[in-house]
Amino acid sequence: MITTYEDIVAEIKNPTKENKALIKKACVFAERAHEGQKRKTGEPYSSHAFATGRNLAIFGMDTETIVAGITHDTIEDTNATKEELEKEFGKEVAFLVEGTTKLGKIKYRGLERHVESMRKLFVATAIDVRVLIIKLADRLHNMETLHGHTVPEKQKRIALETLEVYAPLAGRLGMGKLKGELEDFAFPFVYPKEYKEVKKLLGKQSRVDEKYLEKIRRKVQKELAVAGIQHNIKMDYRIKHLYSLYKKLLRKNMDITKIYDIVALRIIVPSVAECYRVLGIIHGAWRPLPETIRDYIATPKPSGYQSLHTTIFTGDGGMVEIQIRTDEMHREAKYGIAAHAAYKEGLFSKNSVASEKLKWVRQLGMWQDDTLKTDEFLNDLRADFFKDRVFVFTPKGDVIDLPEESTVIDLAYAIHSDIGHNAFGARVNGKFVGLDTRLKSDDIVEVETRKNAHPSAKWLEFAKTALAKKNIRASVQKIEKQRVHNARE
Ligand code: MN
Repeated sequence: MITTYEDIVAEIKNPTKENKALIKKACVFAERAHEGQKRKTGEPYSSHAFATGRNLAIFGMDTETIVAGITHDTIEDTNATKEELEKEFGKEVAFLVEGTTKLGKIKYRGLERHVESMRKLFVATAIDVRVLIIKLADRLHNMETLHGHTVPEKQKRIALETLEVYAPLAGRLGMGKLKGELEDFAFPFVYPKEYKEVKKLLGKQSRVDEKYLEKIRRKVQKELAVAGIQHNIKMDYRIKHLYSLYKKLLRKNMDITKIYDIVALRIIVPSVAECYRVLGIIHGAWRPLPETIRDYIATPKPSGYQSLHTTIFTGDGGMVEIQIRTDEMHREAKYGIAAHAAYKEGLFSKNSVASEKLKWVRQLGMWQDDTLKTDEFLNDLRADFFKDRVFVFTPKGDVIDLPEESTVIDLAYAIHSDIGHNAFGARVNGKFVGLDTRLKSDDIVEVETRKNAHPSAKWLEFAKTALAKKNIRASVQKIEKQRVHNARE
C-alpha cells in the first residue's frame, strides 16, 4: 500500500491551512530527496516516509513531529543536510530529525550493548521524547513491511530488536495499542513455532470470533436500552493480541481455557458516572466472575490506564470480558503519552502530566557524571528499565513504580534523596519493617526517617535500583572522607 499526503492529513483532527501547507511542503521535500530510491518491497522510498508521518498523525502528535516523521530519513539516506531542514522547516524539526537519525544508527547487538548505546544517546540529545515516538512510528511501518526483507537473519534481528527494545519502550510510554501491534508483527519472525502453536490453540476455541462478539454486543445494547441509556455509547470489541496471549499462556501452562480475556467488549460512555451505571446494568443482566471485577477508574494502573473490567458468563457456556471507560480514558489507553499535549507544554516541566510518567526516561540520561564501571551501571540500568515493576502506594495514594525485588530503601530514594539518606524503616500496610524489606505491588508504604540515620555500605546489599545505589555510594564516600578528615584534625 502506498501512503500519500492525503492519507496523512486525513488522520489529523481539524488541520489548519498552515498545518496542511507545512505537511505538503515536507512531502514534496521528502519525495524529491528520496527520488529514485526504492524499498525492499519495491515501493518508492517516499511511501515509507509518508507512512511514518501518517502513524504520527494517528498518534495525535503535533505538526512539527509529523513533518520530522516525513523527513526522518533524509539526513541519513539522501543529500539533504540538517542546515537545509532547518532553513525549510525550522530548528525544532531539524533537531528532531537529527535525533531520530542518531537513534537509528544504534545497531542492535544484543540487549546489553543496545541499552548502553541508548544511554549514551539520551545523554547526548538531552532527551526529547518525540524522537522516541518518531522512531516508534518509523519502526511500526518497518514491521508492517518486514515480510518484504529477503535476508532471513536480518528479518529476525529487526523483529527481535522490536520485541526487546521498541515494544517495551512503547509500553513504558503508555502506548498500549502500538505495543501490541509491534509485538504481533515481530512474534512470527522471532518465535515461529510458538506463533503457530498459539494460532492453533486459538483456532480451536469457539466464541472468540467477531461474529460471536457481535451477538453479545447486540444483547448488551438491548439491556442498556431497556435501562434507558441508548444514546451516547459506543461499543467495539477487541481480540487479544497474539503475543500477549502467548505470554499469558506461558503463565497458565499453555491452558487456554484458563484465560478469560481472549475477547473483550468495550463500552465507551461520556462520563465516569455512566461507567458505573453501565457496570451495574451488566451485572444485573449477567452473572460476573467475581475475581475478575477490576476498578481501574478509582485505582488507575501506574501507566495511567483507567477502565472498569468485568468478565461475565454469557449464558451459552461462554465468558466475555467487558471493559467500560470514557472517551478520554480510551484515547489515553491507546496512545498514552502521545494523548497528552505533553510535548507542547514543555515535556519535563515540573507540573506536566507527562513529567511523572517520564521519570524513568529522564533517569536514563542522569548518569553523565557517573563514576560507575560500565557493566555495573548496565546491570543496574537493565534492572530498572526492563524488569517487571512493582507498584506501591504512599499513604496519600500516590503510586510509585519500582523494579521487581525493590526494598524500602529503594522507595525512600525514589521519593527524595533526603528521605533516602535519613531513612530508618517503614510502615508497610501499618506494620513497622526494616529498610531491607522487599515491597510488593499494592503495599501501602510510609517511609520513616530519623535525623541521625545515615547511609552505610551495608545498604548496598539490599538496594536494587541504580538511583538508590548511586546515592548510597556517594554518601558513604562522603562520610568516609569526613571521618578521615576529622581523624587528621
Ligand atoms: Mn525509516
